[in-house]
Amino acid sequence: MTAPVLIWFRHDLRLADHAALHAALAGGGKVLPLFVLDDAAAGEARYGAAGRWWLRQSLAALAESLAARGAPLLLARGRAETIIPALAAAIGAPEVHAGRAIEPWAREQSRRVAEALGDAGGALRLHTTVVLREPHGFGSGSGKPYAVYTPFAKAMLAAGEPEPPLPAPERIPGVEPPAGGETLDSFGLYPVPGEPDWAAAFPAQWQPGEAGAQARLARFFATSMGAYAEARNLPGVEGSSGLSPHHRWGEISPRQVWHAVRGAAQGPGAETFLKEVLWREFAYHLLWHRPEMPERNLRREFDAFPWQRDEALLRAWQRGRTGYPIVDAGMRQLWQLGWMHNRVRMVAASLLVKHLLQPWQAGAAWFWDTLVDADLASNSASWQWVAGCGTDAAPYFRVFNPVLQGEKFDADGAYVRRFVPELAKLPAAFIHKPWEAPEARLAAAGLRLGRDYPRPVVDPAAGRACALAAFAALKQPGATGEAA
Ligand code: FAD
Repeated sequence: MTAPVLIWFRHDLRLADHAALHAALAGGGKVLPLFVLDDAAAGEARYGAAGRWWLRQSLAALAESLAARGAPLLLARGRAETIIPALAAAIGAPEVHAGRAIEPWAREQSRRVAEALGDAGGALRLHTTVVLREPHGFGSGSGKPYAVYTPFAKAMLAAGEPEPPLPAPERIPGVEPPAGGETLDSFGLYPVPGEPDWAAAFPAQWQPGEAGAQARLARFFATSMGAYAEARNLPGVEGSSGLSPHHRWGEISPRQVWHAVRGAAQGPGAETFLKEVLWREFAYHLLWHRPEMPERNLRREFDAFPWQRDEALLRAWQRGRTGYPIVDAGMRQLWQLGWMHNRVRMVAASLLVKHLLQPWQAGAAWFWDTLVDADLASNSASWQWVAGCGTDAAPYFRVFNPVLQGEKFDADGAYVRRFVPELAKLPAAFIHKPWEAPEARLAAAGLRLGRDYPRPVVDPAAGRACALAAFAALKQPGATGEAA
Protein backbone atom coordinates (compact mmCIF):
# COMPACT_ATOMS: atom_id res chain seq x y z
CA MET A 1 0.00 0.00 0.00
CA THR A 2 1.30 3.49 -0.86
CA ALA A 3 2.30 5.52 2.20
CA PRO A 4 0.15 8.51 3.12
CA VAL A 5 1.50 12.02 2.59
CA LEU A 6 1.12 15.21 4.58
CA ILE A 7 0.35 18.40 2.64
CA TRP A 8 1.15 21.55 4.58
CA PHE A 9 -0.73 24.64 3.36
CA ARG A 10 1.01 27.93 4.07
CA HIS A 11 0.52 31.13 2.05
CA ASP A 12 -1.05 29.19 -0.82
CA LEU A 13 -4.62 28.59 0.33
CA ARG A 14 -6.03 27.09 -2.87
CA LEU A 15 -6.43 23.79 -4.70
CA ALA A 16 -5.74 24.83 -8.31
CA ASP A 17 -2.16 25.30 -9.49
CA HIS A 18 -0.84 23.96 -6.22
CA ALA A 19 2.39 22.17 -7.06
CA ALA A 20 2.78 20.78 -3.53
CA LEU A 21 -0.73 19.32 -3.49
CA HIS A 22 -0.20 17.96 -6.97
CA ALA A 23 3.04 16.25 -5.92
CA ALA A 24 1.44 14.91 -2.73
CA LEU A 25 -1.27 13.24 -4.80
CA ALA A 26 1.06 11.99 -7.53
CA GLY A 27 2.18 8.93 -5.56
CA GLY A 28 -1.39 7.69 -5.26
CA GLY A 29 -1.43 7.58 -1.43
CA LYS A 30 -3.93 9.25 0.88
CA VAL A 31 -3.17 12.77 2.08
CA LEU A 32 -3.62 14.75 5.25
CA PRO A 33 -4.04 18.50 4.54
CA LEU A 34 -2.73 20.67 7.36
CA PHE A 35 -2.52 24.34 8.29
CA VAL A 36 -0.39 25.41 11.26
CA LEU A 37 -0.85 28.75 12.99
CA ASP A 38 2.66 29.41 14.32
CA ASP A 39 2.71 32.96 15.67
CA ALA A 40 5.91 32.35 17.62
CA ALA A 41 7.79 31.56 14.40
CA ALA A 42 6.48 34.73 12.73
CA GLY A 43 7.49 36.92 15.69
CA GLU A 44 7.25 40.57 14.72
CA ALA A 45 5.81 39.52 11.37
CA ARG A 46 2.84 37.69 12.93
CA TYR A 47 -0.27 38.37 10.86
CA GLY A 48 -1.91 41.71 11.54
CA ALA A 49 -5.52 42.13 12.61
CA ALA A 50 -7.01 42.63 9.12
CA GLY A 51 -4.88 39.79 7.77
CA ARG A 52 -6.20 37.52 10.50
CA TRP A 53 -9.76 38.41 9.51
CA TRP A 54 -8.94 37.39 5.96
CA LEU A 55 -7.10 34.24 7.03
CA ARG A 56 -10.08 33.00 8.99
CA GLN A 57 -12.45 33.31 6.04
CA SER A 58 -9.89 31.91 3.64
CA LEU A 59 -9.25 28.84 5.82
CA ALA A 60 -12.99 28.27 6.08
CA ALA A 61 -13.25 28.31 2.27
CA LEU A 62 -10.25 26.01 1.86
CA ALA A 63 -11.56 23.57 4.47
CA GLU A 64 -14.90 23.41 2.66
CA SER A 65 -13.29 22.72 -0.74
CA LEU A 66 -11.00 20.06 0.72
CA ALA A 67 -13.81 18.33 2.60
CA ALA A 68 -15.97 18.31 -0.53
CA ARG A 69 -13.17 16.44 -2.33
CA GLY A 70 -12.65 13.91 0.44
CA ALA A 71 -9.88 15.30 2.65
CA PRO A 72 -10.80 17.46 5.67
CA LEU A 73 -8.30 20.17 6.62
CA LEU A 74 -6.57 19.70 9.98
CA LEU A 75 -5.89 22.92 11.89
CA ALA A 76 -3.05 23.01 14.37
CA ARG A 77 -1.51 25.73 16.49
CA GLY A 78 2.04 25.90 17.82
CA ARG A 79 5.56 25.30 16.56
CA ALA A 80 5.52 23.77 13.11
CA GLU A 81 8.74 21.83 13.74
CA THR A 82 7.09 20.02 16.64
CA ILE A 83 3.63 19.54 15.17
CA ILE A 84 4.53 18.39 11.66
CA PRO A 85 6.95 15.56 12.50
CA ALA A 86 4.55 14.31 15.19
CA LEU A 87 1.64 14.24 12.74
CA ALA A 88 3.75 12.64 10.02
CA ALA A 89 4.71 9.90 12.47
CA ALA A 90 1.11 9.48 13.66
CA ILE A 91 -0.22 8.80 10.15
CA GLY A 92 2.93 7.00 8.92
CA ALA A 93 3.83 9.65 6.32
CA PRO A 94 7.51 9.69 5.31
CA GLU A 95 7.07 12.84 3.23
CA VAL A 96 5.62 16.28 3.78
CA HIS A 97 4.92 18.51 0.76
CA ALA A 98 4.61 22.30 1.04
CA GLY A 99 5.06 25.54 -0.87
CA ARG A 100 8.44 27.25 -0.62
CA ALA A 101 7.92 30.34 1.51
CA ILE A 102 9.72 33.60 0.85
CA GLU A 103 9.37 35.46 4.16
CA PRO A 104 12.54 35.22 6.26
CA TRP A 105 10.69 33.78 9.27
CA ALA A 106 8.91 31.22 7.13
CA ARG A 107 12.18 30.19 5.48
CA GLU A 108 13.65 29.62 8.91
CA GLN A 109 10.51 27.67 9.81
CA SER A 110 10.99 25.49 6.70
CA ARG A 111 14.57 24.85 7.76
CA ARG A 112 13.58 23.78 11.24
CA VAL A 113 10.74 21.55 9.99
CA ALA A 114 13.05 19.91 7.43
CA GLU A 115 15.65 19.29 10.13
CA ALA A 116 13.15 17.81 12.58
CA LEU A 117 11.63 15.60 9.88
CA GLY A 118 15.11 14.53 8.75
CA ASP A 119 16.00 13.51 12.31
CA ALA A 120 12.95 11.25 12.28
CA GLY A 121 13.84 9.74 8.89
CA GLY A 122 11.32 11.81 6.93
CA ALA A 123 11.62 14.62 4.36
CA LEU A 124 10.15 18.02 3.59
CA ARG A 125 9.61 18.55 -0.14
CA LEU A 126 9.21 22.19 -1.16
CA HIS A 127 7.52 23.38 -4.35
CA THR A 128 6.95 26.68 -6.18
CA THR A 129 3.53 28.00 -5.18
CA VAL A 130 3.73 31.76 -4.54
CA VAL A 131 5.96 33.18 -7.30
CA LEU A 132 6.28 32.88 -11.05
CA ARG A 133 9.90 31.81 -10.78
CA GLU A 134 11.98 30.93 -7.76
CA PRO A 135 14.31 33.78 -6.74
CA HIS A 136 17.33 31.56 -6.17
CA GLY A 137 19.07 31.12 -9.47
CA PHE A 138 17.27 34.04 -11.13
CA GLY A 139 19.86 36.76 -11.57
CA SER A 140 21.59 38.98 -14.06
CA GLY A 141 24.25 37.79 -16.52
CA SER A 142 26.87 38.14 -13.80
CA GLY A 143 24.72 35.95 -11.54
CA LYS A 144 23.86 38.79 -9.17
CA PRO A 145 20.22 39.27 -8.13
CA TYR A 146 18.43 42.21 -9.73
CA ALA A 147 18.21 45.31 -7.54
CA VAL A 148 16.28 47.45 -10.03
CA TYR A 149 12.78 46.69 -11.35
CA THR A 150 13.15 47.48 -15.07
CA PRO A 151 15.98 45.05 -15.86
CA PHE A 152 14.33 42.49 -13.57
CA ALA A 153 11.02 42.75 -15.46
CA LYS A 154 12.81 42.58 -18.82
CA ALA A 155 14.65 39.45 -17.75
CA MET A 156 11.43 37.85 -16.49
CA LEU A 157 9.76 38.51 -19.82
CA ALA A 158 12.80 37.29 -21.75
CA ALA A 159 12.85 34.07 -19.73
CA GLY A 160 9.68 33.03 -21.55
CA GLU A 161 6.14 32.35 -20.45
CA PRO A 162 5.74 30.90 -16.95
CA GLU A 163 4.68 27.27 -16.80
CA PRO A 164 0.96 26.74 -17.37
CA PRO A 165 -1.06 26.32 -14.18
CA LEU A 166 -2.01 22.89 -12.83
CA PRO A 167 -5.69 21.98 -12.56
CA ALA A 168 -7.39 21.53 -9.19
CA PRO A 169 -7.68 17.85 -8.28
CA GLU A 170 -11.22 16.52 -8.56
CA ARG A 171 -10.86 14.07 -5.69
CA ILE A 172 -8.44 14.10 -2.79
CA PRO A 173 -8.34 10.79 -0.94
CA GLY A 174 -7.96 11.83 2.69
CA VAL A 175 -6.43 10.20 5.73
CA GLU A 176 -8.66 10.11 8.80
CA PRO A 177 -7.28 13.16 10.68
CA PRO A 178 -5.85 12.42 14.13
CA ALA A 179 -8.04 13.69 16.99
CA GLY A 180 -7.24 16.92 18.80
CA GLY A 181 -7.18 19.46 15.96
CA GLU A 182 -8.04 23.09 16.54
CA THR A 183 -11.13 24.82 15.18
CA LEU A 184 -11.30 28.20 13.47
CA ASP A 185 -12.92 29.54 16.63
CA SER A 186 -10.15 28.22 18.84
CA PHE A 187 -7.59 29.92 16.56
CA GLY A 188 -9.01 33.16 17.94
CA LEU A 189 -8.52 35.04 14.66
CA TYR A 190 -11.43 37.40 14.12
CA PRO A 191 -14.11 38.36 15.02
CA VAL A 192 -13.30 38.18 18.71
CA PRO A 193 -16.54 38.00 20.70
CA GLY A 194 -17.13 41.16 22.72
CA GLU A 195 -14.72 43.36 20.71
CA PRO A 196 -15.92 46.25 18.52
CA ASP A 197 -16.53 45.02 14.99
CA TRP A 198 -14.02 47.11 13.05
CA ALA A 199 -14.40 44.70 10.13
CA ALA A 200 -18.15 45.27 9.75
CA ALA A 201 -17.80 46.59 6.18
CA PHE A 202 -15.35 43.90 5.01
CA PRO A 203 -17.81 41.14 4.04
CA ALA A 204 -19.67 43.35 1.57
CA GLN A 205 -16.36 44.26 -0.08
CA TRP A 206 -14.49 40.95 -0.09
CA GLN A 207 -15.05 37.28 -0.70
CA PRO A 208 -11.95 35.54 0.68
CA GLY A 209 -11.10 32.13 -0.74
CA GLU A 210 -10.34 30.56 -4.09
CA ALA A 211 -13.85 31.04 -5.53
CA GLY A 212 -13.75 34.70 -4.49
CA ALA A 213 -10.39 35.14 -6.24
CA GLN A 214 -11.76 33.68 -9.46
CA ALA A 215 -14.86 35.85 -9.22
CA ARG A 216 -12.69 38.94 -8.70
CA LEU A 217 -10.56 38.08 -11.72
CA ALA A 218 -13.67 37.53 -13.88
CA ARG A 219 -15.09 40.87 -12.74
CA PHE A 220 -11.83 42.61 -13.59
CA PHE A 221 -11.83 41.12 -17.08
CA ALA A 222 -15.47 42.10 -17.58
CA THR A 223 -15.26 45.65 -16.28
CA SER A 224 -11.80 47.19 -15.83
CA MET A 225 -9.07 45.51 -17.82
CA GLY A 226 -9.72 47.37 -21.08
CA ALA A 227 -9.13 50.78 -19.50
CA TYR A 228 -6.67 49.56 -16.84
CA ALA A 229 -3.65 51.48 -18.19
CA GLU A 230 -5.31 54.84 -17.38
CA ALA A 231 -8.00 53.98 -14.83
CA ARG A 232 -5.66 52.14 -12.44
CA ASN A 233 -4.50 55.55 -11.22
CA LEU A 234 -7.96 56.88 -10.40
CA PRO A 235 -9.03 56.05 -6.85
CA GLY A 236 -12.62 57.21 -7.41
CA VAL A 237 -13.39 54.44 -9.93
CA GLU A 238 -12.94 50.66 -9.86
CA GLY A 239 -9.96 50.79 -12.18
CA SER A 240 -7.74 48.05 -10.75
CA SER A 241 -8.35 44.38 -10.06
CA GLY A 242 -8.62 44.28 -6.26
CA LEU A 243 -6.82 40.94 -6.44
CA SER A 244 -4.06 41.82 -3.96
CA PRO A 245 -5.48 40.06 -0.87
CA HIS A 246 -6.20 36.96 -2.96
CA HIS A 247 -2.60 37.07 -4.17
CA ARG A 248 -1.24 37.62 -0.72
CA TRP A 249 -2.97 34.56 0.74
CA GLY A 250 -2.26 32.50 -2.34
CA GLU A 251 -5.89 31.91 -3.23
CA ILE A 252 -4.83 32.47 -6.81
CA SER A 253 -1.31 31.93 -8.10
CA PRO A 254 0.63 34.44 -10.19
CA ARG A 255 0.87 31.79 -12.90
CA GLN A 256 -2.92 31.45 -13.00
CA VAL A 257 -3.30 35.22 -13.27
CA TRP A 258 -0.59 35.47 -15.90
CA HIS A 259 -2.07 32.83 -18.18
CA ALA A 260 -5.64 34.04 -17.66
CA VAL A 261 -4.60 37.54 -18.77
CA ARG A 262 -2.70 36.20 -21.76
CA GLY A 263 -5.73 34.14 -22.75
CA ALA A 264 -8.26 36.92 -22.22
CA ALA A 265 -6.80 39.92 -23.97
CA GLN A 266 -3.94 41.66 -25.62
CA GLY A 267 -3.48 45.40 -25.55
CA PRO A 268 -2.16 48.10 -23.25
CA GLY A 269 -4.41 47.15 -20.31
CA ALA A 270 -3.16 43.59 -20.24
CA GLU A 271 0.49 44.56 -20.67
CA THR A 272 0.36 47.18 -17.93
CA PHE A 273 -1.41 44.76 -15.61
CA LEU A 274 1.23 42.07 -16.09
CA LYS A 275 3.90 44.66 -15.26
CA GLU A 276 2.16 45.20 -11.92
CA VAL A 277 2.14 41.47 -11.31
CA LEU A 278 5.89 41.65 -11.94
CA TRP A 279 6.23 44.38 -9.28
CA ARG A 280 4.89 41.85 -6.80
CA GLU A 281 7.30 39.26 -8.14
CA PHE A 282 10.18 41.76 -7.85
CA ALA A 283 9.30 42.45 -4.22
CA TYR A 284 9.32 38.72 -3.47
CA HIS A 285 12.70 38.26 -5.13
CA LEU A 286 14.08 41.28 -3.27
CA LEU A 287 12.88 39.90 0.06
CA TRP A 288 14.48 36.56 -0.70
CA HIS A 289 17.84 38.17 -1.42
CA ARG A 290 17.60 40.93 1.19
CA PRO A 291 15.80 39.34 4.16
CA GLU A 292 16.53 42.42 6.28
CA MET A 293 14.17 44.47 4.04
CA PRO A 294 11.18 44.59 6.47
CA GLU A 295 13.28 46.27 9.17
CA ARG A 296 16.39 47.89 7.74
CA ASN A 297 17.07 50.49 5.09
CA LEU A 298 18.41 48.73 2.03
CA ARG A 299 20.49 51.83 1.35
CA ARG A 300 22.49 52.05 4.53
CA GLU A 301 23.20 55.79 4.26
CA PHE A 302 19.57 56.25 5.35
CA ASP A 303 20.47 54.82 8.77
CA ALA A 304 21.55 58.37 9.63
CA PHE A 305 18.27 59.95 8.51
CA PRO A 306 16.99 62.50 11.07
CA TRP A 307 13.46 61.18 11.63
CA GLN A 308 11.42 63.24 14.08
CA ARG A 309 9.22 60.74 15.88
CA ASP A 310 5.92 62.30 16.92
CA GLU A 311 3.09 60.14 18.23
CA ALA A 312 0.46 62.85 17.67
CA LEU A 313 1.38 63.24 14.00
CA LEU A 314 1.46 59.49 13.50
CA ARG A 315 -1.95 59.16 15.10
CA ALA A 316 -3.43 61.96 12.96
CA TRP A 317 -2.17 60.12 9.89
CA GLN A 318 -3.47 56.74 11.06
CA ARG A 319 -6.92 58.14 11.80
CA GLY A 320 -7.24 60.08 8.53
CA ARG A 321 -7.06 63.49 10.20
CA THR A 322 -4.04 65.13 8.56
CA GLY A 323 -6.08 67.89 6.91
CA TYR A 324 -5.00 66.68 3.45
CA PRO A 325 -8.20 65.28 1.94
CA ILE A 326 -6.68 62.75 -0.48
CA VAL A 327 -4.51 61.29 2.29
CA ASP A 328 -7.34 61.25 4.83
CA ALA A 329 -9.66 59.59 2.32
CA GLY A 330 -7.05 56.87 1.77
CA MET A 331 -6.42 56.29 5.45
CA ARG A 332 -10.17 56.04 6.08
CA GLN A 333 -10.64 53.70 3.12
CA LEU A 334 -7.94 51.55 4.70
CA TRP A 335 -9.71 51.52 8.06
CA GLN A 336 -13.15 50.83 6.59
CA LEU A 337 -12.30 48.29 3.91
CA GLY A 338 -8.86 46.92 4.85
CA TRP A 339 -7.48 48.13 1.51
CA MET A 340 -6.27 51.37 -0.07
CA HIS A 341 -5.87 52.38 -3.68
CA ASN A 342 -2.25 52.13 -4.91
CA ARG A 343 -1.93 55.77 -5.98
CA VAL A 344 -3.21 56.91 -2.59
CA ARG A 345 -0.91 54.47 -0.76
CA MET A 346 1.98 56.27 -2.44
CA VAL A 347 0.70 59.75 -1.58
CA ALA A 348 -0.21 58.83 2.02
CA ALA A 349 3.13 57.10 2.59
CA SER A 350 5.01 60.03 1.09
CA LEU A 351 3.23 62.50 3.37
CA LEU A 352 4.14 60.44 6.43
CA VAL A 353 7.82 59.99 5.67
CA LYS A 354 8.55 63.26 3.88
CA HIS A 355 6.27 66.02 5.12
CA LEU A 356 5.87 64.56 8.61
CA LEU A 357 9.33 62.98 8.91
CA GLN A 358 8.05 59.84 10.56
CA PRO A 359 10.10 56.66 10.03
CA TRP A 360 8.79 54.46 7.21
CA GLN A 361 8.73 51.50 9.57
CA ALA A 362 5.96 53.19 11.59
CA GLY A 363 3.82 53.54 8.47
CA ALA A 364 4.62 50.01 7.34
CA ALA A 365 3.56 48.68 10.76
CA TRP A 366 0.19 50.44 10.52
CA PHE A 367 -0.38 49.10 7.02
CA TRP A 368 0.66 45.67 8.26
CA ASP A 369 -2.06 45.69 10.88
CA THR A 370 -4.84 47.21 8.79
CA LEU A 371 -4.43 45.87 5.23
CA VAL A 372 -6.15 42.64 4.26
CA ASP A 373 -3.40 42.28 1.64
CA ALA A 374 -0.59 43.01 4.16
CA ASP A 375 2.34 41.27 2.54
CA LEU A 376 5.84 41.36 3.97
CA ALA A 377 7.50 41.60 0.57
CA SER A 378 5.24 44.14 -1.18
CA ASN A 379 4.68 46.25 1.92
CA SER A 380 8.30 46.66 2.92
CA ALA A 381 9.55 47.04 -0.66
CA SER A 382 6.92 49.73 -1.35
CA TRP A 383 7.63 51.66 1.84
CA GLN A 384 11.34 51.62 1.12
CA TRP A 385 10.58 52.74 -2.43
CA VAL A 386 8.53 55.72 -1.21
CA ALA A 387 11.04 56.63 1.51
CA GLY A 388 13.90 56.57 -0.99
CA CYS A 389 15.95 53.99 0.90
CA GLY A 390 15.17 50.94 -1.26
CA THR A 391 17.45 49.49 -3.91
CA ASP A 392 15.07 50.70 -6.61
CA ALA A 393 13.55 53.72 -4.94
CA ALA A 394 11.92 56.99 -5.85
CA PRO A 395 14.69 59.53 -5.22
CA TYR A 396 14.23 61.15 -1.83
CA PHE A 397 13.78 64.59 -3.33
CA ARG A 398 10.67 63.41 -5.21
CA VAL A 399 8.08 64.64 -2.74
CA PHE A 400 4.49 63.92 -3.71
CA ASN A 401 2.37 67.04 -3.43
CA PRO A 402 -0.89 65.80 -1.87
CA VAL A 403 -2.93 68.67 -3.34
CA LEU A 404 -1.68 68.25 -6.91
CA GLN A 405 -2.01 64.48 -6.65
CA GLY A 406 -5.61 64.83 -5.52
CA GLU A 407 -6.44 67.35 -8.26
CA LYS A 408 -4.84 65.18 -10.92
CA PHE A 409 -6.18 61.75 -9.98
CA ASP A 410 -9.42 62.61 -8.17
CA ALA A 411 -10.33 65.69 -10.20
CA ASP A 412 -14.04 65.74 -9.32
CA GLY A 413 -13.34 64.75 -5.71
CA ALA A 414 -15.53 61.63 -5.86
CA TYR A 415 -13.05 59.60 -3.82
CA VAL A 416 -12.69 62.26 -1.13
CA ARG A 417 -16.45 62.78 -0.95
CA ARG A 418 -16.97 59.05 -0.39
CA PHE A 419 -14.48 58.59 2.44
CA VAL A 420 -14.40 62.08 3.99
CA PRO A 421 -18.13 62.85 4.07
CA GLU A 422 -17.66 66.08 6.03
CA LEU A 423 -16.13 67.56 2.85
CA ALA A 424 -18.81 66.18 0.52
CA LYS A 425 -20.49 69.51 -0.13
CA LEU A 426 -17.34 71.44 -1.07
CA PRO A 427 -17.02 72.32 -4.76
CA ALA A 428 -14.33 70.45 -6.72
CA ALA A 429 -12.15 73.58 -6.85
CA PHE A 430 -11.57 73.36 -3.08
CA ILE A 431 -12.08 69.72 -2.25
CA HIS A 432 -8.33 69.00 -2.20
CA LYS A 433 -7.42 72.26 -0.42
CA PRO A 434 -10.32 73.27 1.84
CA TRP A 435 -8.10 75.79 3.65
CA GLU A 436 -8.13 77.95 0.49
CA ALA A 437 -11.94 78.08 0.32
CA PRO A 438 -13.50 81.45 1.24
CA GLU A 439 -15.41 81.43 4.53
CA ALA A 440 -18.73 81.74 2.69
CA ARG A 441 -17.99 78.61 0.65
CA LEU A 442 -17.06 76.69 3.77
CA ALA A 443 -20.21 77.86 5.52
CA ALA A 444 -22.34 76.88 2.53
CA ALA A 445 -20.79 73.40 2.73
CA GLY A 446 -21.61 73.26 6.45
CA LEU A 447 -17.94 73.20 7.34
CA ARG A 448 -15.78 74.94 9.90
CA LEU A 449 -12.11 74.09 9.57
CA GLY A 450 -10.52 73.08 12.84
CA ARG A 451 -13.90 71.94 14.13
CA ASP A 452 -15.44 69.65 11.51
CA TYR A 453 -12.28 68.88 9.61
CA PRO A 454 -8.65 69.60 10.60
CA ARG A 455 -6.42 72.24 9.09
CA PRO A 456 -3.30 70.66 7.53
CA VAL A 457 -1.04 69.21 10.24
CA VAL A 458 1.89 70.69 8.36
CA ASP A 459 2.00 73.56 5.92
CA PRO A 460 2.39 72.11 2.39
CA ALA A 461 5.43 74.17 1.43
CA ALA A 462 7.07 73.95 4.86
CA GLY A 463 6.61 70.18 4.89
CA ARG A 464 8.39 69.84 1.59
CA ALA A 465 11.21 72.14 2.69
CA CYS A 466 11.65 70.10 5.89
CA ALA A 467 11.89 66.91 3.91
CA LEU A 468 14.52 68.35 1.60
CA ALA A 469 16.51 69.73 4.54
CA ALA A 470 16.48 66.32 6.21
CA PHE A 471 17.62 64.78 2.96
CA ALA A 472 20.43 67.31 2.66
CA ALA A 473 21.54 66.23 6.13
CA LEU A 474 22.40 62.87 4.61
CA LYS A 475 24.99 64.80 2.61
CA GLN A 476 23.81 63.50 -0.70
CA PRO A 477 24.20 65.60 -3.79
CA GLY A 478 20.48 66.34 -4.08
CA ALA A 479 18.31 67.71 -6.83
CA THR A 480 15.16 69.67 -6.24
CA GLY A 481 12.48 68.16 -8.42
CA GLU A 482 8.91 67.84 -7.24
CA ALA A 483 6.69 64.94 -8.22
CA ALA A 484 3.31 66.26 -9.29
P1 FAD B 1 -3.74 45.93 -9.51
O1 FAD B 1 -3.40 47.27 -10.05
O2 FAD B 1 -4.93 45.27 -10.04
O3 FAD B 1 -2.44 45.04 -9.72
C1 FAD B 1 -2.49 43.61 -9.91
C2 FAD B 1 -1.64 42.93 -8.86
O4 FAD B 1 -0.27 43.31 -9.00
C3 FAD B 1 -2.01 43.29 -7.45
O5 FAD B 1 -3.08 42.51 -6.98
C4 FAD B 1 -0.72 43.06 -6.68
O6 FAD B 1 -0.56 41.70 -6.33
C5 FAD B 1 0.34 43.42 -7.72
N1 FAD B 1 0.81 44.80 -7.54
C6 FAD B 1 0.27 45.92 -8.06
N2 FAD B 1 1.02 47.01 -7.73
C7 FAD B 1 2.04 46.54 -6.97
C8 FAD B 1 3.15 47.16 -6.31
N3 FAD B 1 3.38 48.48 -6.41
N4 FAD B 1 3.99 46.39 -5.61
C9 FAD B 1 3.79 45.05 -5.51
N5 FAD B 1 2.76 44.41 -6.12
C10 FAD B 1 1.90 45.14 -6.84
N6 FAD B 1 0.60 45.41 -2.09
C11 FAD B 1 0.31 44.27 -1.43
O7 FAD B 1 -0.14 43.30 -2.05
N7 FAD B 1 0.52 44.18 -0.08
C12 FAD B 1 1.01 45.22 0.66
O8 FAD B 1 1.19 45.08 1.87
C13 FAD B 1 1.29 46.43 -0.02
N8 FAD B 1 1.74 47.52 0.66
C14 FAD B 1 2.00 48.68 -0.02
C15 FAD B 1 2.50 49.79 0.68
C16 FAD B 1 2.76 50.99 0.02
C17 FAD B 1 3.31 52.17 0.80
C18 FAD B 1 2.53 51.09 -1.35
C19 FAD B 1 2.82 52.37 -2.08
C20 FAD B 1 2.07 50.00 -2.07
C21 FAD B 1 1.81 48.79 -1.42
N9 FAD B 1 1.33 47.65 -2.12
C22 FAD B 1 1.07 46.49 -1.43
C23 FAD B 1 1.27 47.66 -3.59
C24 FAD B 1 -0.06 48.08 -4.22
O9 FAD B 1 -0.54 49.25 -3.64
C25 FAD B 1 -1.15 47.00 -4.12
O10 FAD B 1 -0.64 45.74 -4.53
C26 FAD B 1 -2.33 47.36 -5.02
O11 FAD B 1 -2.89 48.58 -4.59
C27 FAD B 1 -3.35 46.28 -4.96
O12 FAD B 1 -4.50 46.63 -5.66
P2 FAD B 1 -4.98 45.79 -6.91
O13 FAD B 1 -4.98 44.33 -6.57
O14 FAD B 1 -6.25 46.38 -7.37
O15 FAD B 1 -3.81 46.05 -7.92
